[in-house]
Amino acid sequence: MKRVLLASPRGYCAGVERAVETVKRALALYGAPVYVRKQIVHNAHVVRELEADGAVFVDSVGEVPEGAHVVFSAHGVSPAVREAADARRLETIDATCPLVTKVHAQARRYAERGYRVVLIGHAGHEEVEGTTGEAPEAIVLVESVEEAERIELSAGRLAYITQTTLSVDETHEIIAVLRRRFPHIEGPAREDICYATSNRQWAVKELVGAVDVLLVVGSRNSSNSLRLVEVARAAGVASYLVDDASEIDERWLAAAEVVGVTSGASAPERLVRGVCEWFRARGVRDVAEYASTFEDVVFRLPVELRRAERSAA
Ligand code: SF4
Repeated sequence: MKRVLLASPRGYCAGVERAVETVKRALALYGAPVYVRKQIVHNAHVVRELEADGAVFVDSVGEVPEGAHVVFSAHGVSPAVREAADARRLETIDATCPLVTKVHAQARRYAERGYRVVLIGHAGHEEVEGTTGEAPEAIVLVESVEEAERIELSAGRLAYITQTTLSVDETHEIIAVLRRRFPHIEGPAREDICYATSNRQWAVKELVGAVDVLLVVGSRNSSNSLRLVEVARAAGVASYLVDDASEIDERWLAAAEVVGVTSGASAPERLVRGVCEWFRARGVRDVAEYASTFEDVVFRLPVELRRAERSAA
């Protein structure tokens, strides 16, 4: 190995920054424990660190003691979860990414106007569960081009929306099939794949021509990290997902001269630095940024947290 090239942009997006900061600030304001429904973001390191600071991660609001503070994760929740939290008189702090909230609003708007809504996304992902919960009777999930080819939909108003962390290319293919089969289908002006997901996939596409192998730092349940692996593989470049440097297998790199490194939107930059150190420890001196695209998206913290901080000040 002679060289390591770092994709840019990579790592934390504005929604993840906001969600992680929300839990930290809630812990500072209220003290431990602060409950968090589901993983605040899909990264094992982030979750472990927040646990060490006093966050308690639960699968359902039913596990949170009545009246306690609970943070909803960046992936969003369905109205049923909000109702269950209200029934337990929980103090909720909503760290749902604003770009996910936008998709929820689209789902509601279409459903209220009598549309059948095709949600392009992955079954079982928390974001998809939350969005589907906005209008379960109106929404039908499509996961692949094959499903788009097979799906039968009755005549009438029809629209599509998408999960925020999908493959840009595959989503375009799915939308093209839906538009061919159902020419009257409506959709957002741009699909709902978020800026961070698109930018990280774009950066990998730029990088793969210059590397022999691509390492993606991210957890296995991180949808946008998995998509980065797929983008590289689709371009014929071997790619592996690692939670951190300890998971790198030297055999993957045996024939590689140039190794690319990127990270998913929920992976902290210090894990990428750990990967760079791993290479330096093996004699690689040339570790460089490949290209750089500036991202300046910032989301304000949840309003309920800002208000509580103001009152406490
Ligand atoms: S990946 Fe996109 S939708 Fe998800 S939290 Fe980040 S900015 Fe929001």
